[in-house]
Amino acid sequence: MRLVIMGPPGAGKGTQAAKIVEKYNVPHISTGDIFRQNLKKNTPLGLKAKEYMDKGLLVPDEVVVAIVKDRIMQEDCKDGFLLDGFPRTAPQANALDEVLEEMDARLDKVINIDVAKDVLIERAVGRRVCKNCGATYHVKYNPPGREGACDVCSGEIIQRDDDKKETVVKRIEVYLEQTQPLIQYYKDKGLLANINGQQEIEKVFDDITQSIGREI
Ligand code: ADP
Ligand code: AMP
Repeated sequence: MRLVIMGPPGAGKGTQAAKIVEKYNVPHISTGDIFRQNLKKNTPLGLKAKEYMDKGLLVPDEVVVAIVKDRIMQEDCKDGFLLDGFPRTAPQANALDEVLEEMDARLDKVINIDVAKDVLIERAVGRRVCKNCGATYHVKYNPPGREGACDVCSGEIIQRDDDKKETVVKRIEVYLEQTQPLIQYYKDKGLLANINGQQEIEKVFDDITQSIGREI
């Protein structure tokens, strides 16, 4: 199954992606996670991406596209994958179409998580992540069982550098301008599942699994 999960920053993509990949047993490809992992290791890619991420801007298309192309052509993606945070621009969506065509494959579903702007800011600013494994929490809506420690690996819980309010506001602006138009693009292709993201995490997940089950 080849899936894309999209939505504005803070909508709950990463939270739902973790549950989707567990249920459907497909690799989780998060471009944001790839950049953060590279930054942790101080690779040239990580340092280049940070210049953009810290300003709330998108990493240039050619950089992101090359990474995703390489990743989805790997053996473990042969039968499917979940793309999280990609595509984010029209050129990225076109590049994805091209690589899928080369692979003689097609997307099964594009899940769009819909959340109002004021809610997004509260979610992103209150987000906390595990420094070690990247698991996502929220100070109010999804706190870890033990304060400051990850439920999965006991790693340290931190705030992302790009989750400061002014950066989040910029990221939402960039989303509205560059990424939101892709909703119509995938609607026109008959691939879109619009999901109400302003519900309990489990309810959002139920709606996602129902939309996948119905169509695939
Ligand atoms: P994205 O990957 O779209 O940026 P995340 O999955 O990291 O979003 O979620 C953003 C924040 O909102 C996190 O702190 C997460 O715990 C919280 N969150 C996710 N889904 C919900 C929800 N349905 N209700 C309340 N909080 C949520
Ligand atoms: P995310 O973890 O999806 O919120 O992404 C964090 C940041 O990584 C974004 O604000 C961008 O700077 C960068 N990024 C992630 N995915 C992409 C993408 N597909 N295109 C451009 N930049 C991206």
